[in-house]
Parts: sequence; structure tokens; C-alpha cells
Amino acid sequence: MNKTSQGNMMFKLVQELFPVCRSLTGDGVRRTLGVLKREIPSLAINEVPSGTECFDWTVPDEWEVRDAWVIDPDGEKIVDFNKSNLHLLGYSIPFDGEITLEELDTHLYSLPEQPDLIPYVTSYYAPRWGFCLPHSQREKLRPGLYRVKIDVEFSKGSLTYGEAFLPGEGEKEILLSTYICHPSMANDNLSGPALMAALWRWLSAEKRRFSYRFVFVPETIGAIAYISQNLEELRKKTYAGYVLTCVGDNNAVSFLPSRRGDTVVDKVSRHVLRHRAPGFKEYSFLDRGSDERQYCSPGVDLPVASIMRSKYGTYPEYHTSADNLDFISPEGLQGSFEIYCKCLDLLEGNRVYRTTFPCEPQLGKRGLYPTLSQKGSSDEARIYMNLLAYADGENDLIDIAERIGVPAEELVPIAEKFLSHGLLEICE
Ligand code: ZN
Repeated sequence: MNKTSQGNMMFKLVQELFPVCRSLTGDGVRRTLGVLKREIPSLAINEVPSGTECFDWTVPDEWEVRDAWVIDPDGEKIVDFNKSNLHLLGYSIPFDGEITLEELDTHLYSLPEQPDLIPYVTSYYAPRWGFCLPHSQREKLRPGLYRVKIDVEFSKGSLTYGEAFLPGEGEKEILLSTYICHPSMANDNLSGPALMAALWRWLSAEKRRFSYRFVFVPETIGAIAYISQNLEELRKKTYAGYVLTCVGDNNAVSFLPSRRGDTVVDKVSRHVLRHRAPGFKEYSFLDRGSDERQYCSPGVDLPVASIMRSKYGTYPEYHTSADNLDFISPEGLQGSFEIYCKCLDLLEGNRVYRTTFPCEPQLGKRGLYPTLSQKGSSDEARIYMNLLAYADGENDLIDIAERIGVPAEELVPIAEKFLSHGLLEICE
């Protein structure tokens, strides 16, 4: 598969999904999963009924929007859900009536510091209604009576999530999780599902040691619902995992470690990033904000981290109408894809080896050593000998790579070659 084409395919998928009005529940989530199922044919779509208790949480009612608008005293429709789904406060309750500007104003949300952008605001767990609009527009509203209509419906339905599984040689799994609950926003969050689809295409064509679990959930409540249904299996089988979000722009590379901070996923990610993105910014788990909050919770305690481009909450376009298709790019998505490929490759290839002979083996008679000693040939030979010197059953390949000062990805094929020649054995 041509890896450079992935960025364009991911961008097209984001473009296709961008207009869909998503929320925690409802048709937008189902339509999104329907499109993803075209990319991942084995994607199973599951429904968790409204009212289901998930640990300390309850699955909310479904929320469907038919229409929502504000008409000013001159009869002009000044805010229209059909023009941007960000205009309606997420999970707004219904409203239909004529109110004064003063009253309307208590239901408006805008950003004085970014006067031309529409903010993305939700009220999932406290019933209220509201509209989001550019501050510049809000400031121009004149006193008078405004017609307001929010035609929405809450109903007993379900929370929808998607799950796909790619079996590998072993029982242990890599968990890849993303969310599907934001309306029209690109980096946070459609870049995550697009990267999941690209990783699926890549992984499904490869022979793999680990099995891979792809999870698409509404953020927070969806992750909690998913974990509540799969806790034992996740705890037993998860070797490492990532939350995929904010992977679409090309401005930065960010790393959010797991809660423990020293798990295998932290070690692999840091090593890859040091070589592939030396200027990357490492955040603390204190800066967490997405579903790693649930996966890393003490009662779940999985080694789950997140590699992002511009991290949620840190870039000015975040949770506004400016987090759009102009903010992300095929190049940004491609770069994220390549970093994740390197990390997953290294999770697969990083093992603890031990040499099988008490002293150095004779590489030359196996054709593994440059028999002609000349300038240049010694570097590779040196790496060979150093790998054998530190393959003591305690160091994994990353430990050895860091000691030698080479990317661990270079040691993986050498170790596999030595293994096939019986010079190394696998300890874990
Ligand atoms: Zn968000």
C-alpha cells in the first residue's frame, strides 16, 4: 500500500463527515458510523439503551434536532442551525416563543476575544437552551422582540458506538479509541476517526503479533459505557493503547502520557517521537482531557496514551468554527499516520532478547559480518555487535537503541535476523 496516499484519503473522509450534526446520541452518530463502516467493513454497531447504568453514569436520552433559529425584530433569520450546526447549544431543550433582547441575551454564547468565530458549547447534563454566535454579530443585536424556535426532541433511544477487531497471532491487544460526538469540527474531532480508518487499512494488510481493537464512542459517556461492558476483557488483554484525537493539523506534535507515565506505550511513544519529531511537546497526565481519563482511571488502569498534533485546549481554533477543513491538511494527517505506524510497528517489534552463546557468536561464517574490513563497513558491524552485547534477557530493543544512539526501528530487523539464525532467543 502506498503510504503517502493516506493523508488525502483521510482528508476526504473528514470532508465527507464534516457537515453531519453529531452529539452524544442520535442520528448524527449513526450516520457517522455508517460512513465508517464503509471504510471498516467489519465495524459492529452497538446500541446501549437510554437509562442504562454504567458505573456512576446513566446513558442519556436521545437528542434529535429538526430545526433551530432566531428571527430578529425586522423579520430576518439571524441565527440558523441549518447554516451551521454549531449555532445551537448542544443538547438544548425545546423552546418556542417571542422574547426580548434582554432575555435572549441570557441564552447566547460568544467569544469576545475571537469576535468572528462561533463557539462550540454543550449542556449535556443540565437542561437549558441556547445559541452560539460570533460576538461581532451579538453586539449588533438591537432591542426588540425576537422569535426563537428550537425544534428538538428528547426520546428514550440509545447511545451508539462502533467496534472492530483485527485478530493477530496472540491474545494480547492494542486498543485504539476515538470519539464521534462533535458536530462540524475537523481537528477535534474528525481527524481521529479518519486516522482510525487509515490505520485499519494499513494493519489489515499486515501480519501482526497483537490483535487490534478499534473503538468509536461518544466521548466520556460512550467510553464509560464501553468500558462498563468490556472491563474484564480490556484489563486482561490490553497490552497498550492510544486515544486518537487532534491529529489533523500540521503545526505541532504533542504527547500526552498515560497516568502511570512509564508504561510500554509511554516508552515506545517517547522513543519514536524523539527520532521522528524531535521538537515534540510532552504534556503531563494532568493536562488530560479525552477518553484516556477513563481508560487510565485506577479501576481500569490501562497503558493508554495519546499522540496529537495541536493538542485540544491549546490552539485558538479549538472548539470554534475555525477548527474547520482549513485548519487541518492532508500533510498533517499523513504525518500523524506515519508516527502512529512507527509506534505500532515498534510495539510489535520491541522485545527482550537473550544471546544463545556464552561469548560473541561468529557472524562471519553465517554471512552476517562484513568480511572485508573497510571504512564505512564498521558502523553496521558495530551496531550488530552492540545489539548482541546488550541482548542479555533484561534490555529490550528500545533500551539497547537508546544506549547505542540509533532508532529502535533499525534494531528490529537485525534482531529478527539473528533470531532466525539462532543467535538470539526471545525472553518476552
Ligand atoms: Zn472537544
